[in-house]
Amino acid sequence: MKKTSIITGITGQDGAYLSKLLLEQGYRVIGLTRSYSKDNLSKLRFLGILDKIEIQEVDLTDLSQIIRLFQEFKPAEVYNLAAQSSVSLSFQQPISTISFNITSTLNLLEAIRVVSPSIRMYQASSSEMFGHVENLPITEHHALHPLSPYAISKAAAHWTTINYRESYKLWVGSGILFNHESYLRSSNFFIKKVLRSAVAISLGKQDTLEVGNIDIKRDFGYAPAYVEAMWLMLQQDEPDDYIICSGTSVTLRSIIEHIFSVLNIPVERLVINPEYYRPTDIVDIYGDNTKAKMKLGWAYERSFFNVLEELLEDEVRYAIT
Ligand code: NAP
Repeated sequence: MKKTSIITGITGQDGAYLSKLLLEQGYRVIGLTRSYSKDNLSKLRFLGILDKIEIQEVDLTDLSQIIRLFQEFKPAEVYNLAAQSSVSLSFQQPISTISFNITSTLNLLEAIRVVSPSIRMYQASSSEMFGHVENLPITEHHALHPLSPYAISKAAAHWTTINYRESYKLWVGSGILFNHESYLRSSNFFIKKVLRSAVAISLGKQDTLEVGNIDIKRDFGYAPAYVEAMWLMLQQDEPDDYIICSGTSVTLRSIIEHIFSVLNIPVERLVINPEYYRPTDIVDIYGDNTKAKMKLGWAYERSFFNVLEELLEDEVRYAIT
């Protein structure tokens, strides 16, 4: 008998890579989308798996729909990836970000509690929850100090997940993921924007790359490897929370300089625009992935500059073809 999994946020970057992994593991994959339109299924099509996934249109703010869904499909595992996931956008849309990201998680937990407490659930938490940090690297024991509406929503969803695990003994846990990138990242995120713009500049289709504060440091990794950790988390004897990261941080400036030098783009094409600065920002952040490596057997040793070169090759290939 195939195990059934449900993935919320199936149309996003991680939804696509996680679906591919679960299909390879022999799962039946039910993918949830807020709107069943051909336009937002491009990532699944890109990976060649669209016809293997059963797409369901579900409003995650409607508890009754989730209850009916669980009764119909009886999933063994639920991966909650749906979220308004952009920090920048969350400053422009604070209420919808906070409202959706918390309510959707709470509804899933409540539906599990009511319909089938044996369902295992993965919650997509974020390193952004730590925000203002003094001691690096970040471990699972660090206090949360969110610096954006997105981070606040993720912190609340994270603690709600812990609360349901402790109060009702549900098998639910969070992966606290640091930034992870791929060709399928949406172009409103920094790395994808830089890659796409740099390739366009090198092809003479764009003049400059405009960015905000690039003297901050982040811990970046490779999305297809990070979704493996999500799956591993739900295969353990006990539910728990894990930091998933590369373990080192790099400045955004060094990323741009690296890409520009590979493509022979002069630095004059880089424009710093203070309009892109955020009201508050994390200066430097990187995590400690020891627990994930020891307990999950998750293996990750890649330098982000290696990942960048792979992503740049993909960007050039698909820009030309
Ligand atoms: P993504 O590409 O932005 O995908 C987000 C998904 O959530 C999409 O399927 C999107 O659907 C859905 N969604 C957004 N707003 C929604 C709403 N109001 N109602 C229903 N669905 C909604 O994000 P990702 O990179 O795959 O990340 C997956 C999860 O991990 C997210 O929860 C994110 O916050 C978290 N996370 C990501 C990172 C990272 O670096 N990628 C790091 C830490 C945590 P549409 O296609 O319909 O917009």
